Amino acid sequence: MNPIDADDALICLRAGDAAGAVMPPIVQASLFRFETLEELHGAQARENEVCVYSRGTNPTVRELEETLARLEGAEAAKCFASGMGAISATLFALLAEGDHVLFCGDIYGPTIEFAQRLEDYGVTHSRCFAAGIDEIEAALTPATKMIYFESPGSMRFELLPIAEICTLAKRRGILTAIDNTVATPLLQKPLAMGCDLVLHSLTKYVGGHSDTLGGALAGSAELVERVFRRGYMLMGAVMAPFDAWLLLRGLATLPARLAQQQADALAVARFLAGHPKVRRVFHPALAEGAQAALFAQQMRGHSGLLSAEFDLPDHAATLALGNRLRLFGKAISWGGVESLVSSAHRTDPGPDHDGRMPRTLLRFSVGLEGAEALIADLEQALA
Ligand SMILES: *Cc1c(COP(=O)(O)O)cnc(C)c1O
Repeated sequence: MNPIDADDALICLRAGDAAGAVMPPIVQASLFRFETLEELHGAQARENEVCVYSRGTNPTVRELEETLARLEGAEAAKCFASGMGAISATLFALLAEGDHVLFCGDIYGPTIEFAQRLEDYGVTHSRCFAAGIDEIEAALTPATKMIYFESPGSMRFELLPIAEICTLAKRRGILTAIDNTVATPLLQKPLAMGCDLVLHSLTKYVGGHSDTLGGALAGSAELVERVFRRGYMLMGAVMAPFDAWLLLRGLATLPARLAQQQADALAVARFLAGHPKVRRVFHPALAEGAQAALFAQQMRGHSGLLSAEFDLPDHAATLALGNRLRLFGKAISWGGVESLVSSAHRTDPGPDHDGRMPRTLLRFSVGLEGAEALIADLEQALA
């Protein structure tokens, strides 16, 4: 089966040609003129829809926002200067003193760091690493205002039961927000499973060429408007028109890139799973049991990411293995056309580390070099 929905592929391909040009013009303007002051004042009351000032709405950025909203099946979307811009504005805008956030699963590190800053303003949080709905329910408190999660996570790609979490949250009047970066807007549709808000770092697969940063929030018009008023406009992590243009260009090839990266990453994952120096491969398509069932239910496929725990004595030997790879760049981030390798741990996690993120784990982002060449490279590094 083609992992990408045919309608989605067309939305990506036609992104931004509404103005008649095959690629949209870049409206490099910070402000927009009106005939009268009254018209200006009227527009200021609707700054999320009308172009008044580019810290609010810009036509080029708007093209990208409308495209992402269509892909996510959302009423509205807003684009930010980075994924963290979207995440921080959302948490800042929707939480207040006395509220509690439950973070489920593996969460992007800076998101947790931002939640720690919010503690200074009376917003508390806790974490739940279990994937079972009973454990998640037990971790809620009377003050829980939001359940925030990632599925798949971005290091071990563990899945959480999205529809079950959203049903539980709705019953308790709790907001749900998912970071959908790993799945991209093409491989998983969280709003259709009941989520209130979807967040993305567009820096990864949507941009796809390691040349621009971006973030997005999608959801109901009402929630996106609240984040716009209380977070976007005030914190100012605004997407630049040129970045929106690059991201629209990235979207056009996202279906094609993902199709190849998905196939090649699966081939790499299968190779690693059969290698004697590999203890375990983390890739949703190779998972078993409940994780395999969730993968079949929730996702159309997985992207070009995988990780592996190697049968190596320590952290230093793991870094040495990564360093022996010739085709995998040593860089953070992922989702571009070049393959990358990174370690789960910057420093040796030491003897008392909890083992959740194995010390001999390496994550791979498969680019477009081709599975055969990447497997040959892994083979020589493991020899
Ligand atoms: C990279 C990333 C982010 C942050 O995005 P930036 O564009 O780097 O700010 C958030 N969530 C996940 C899962 C990410 O991988």
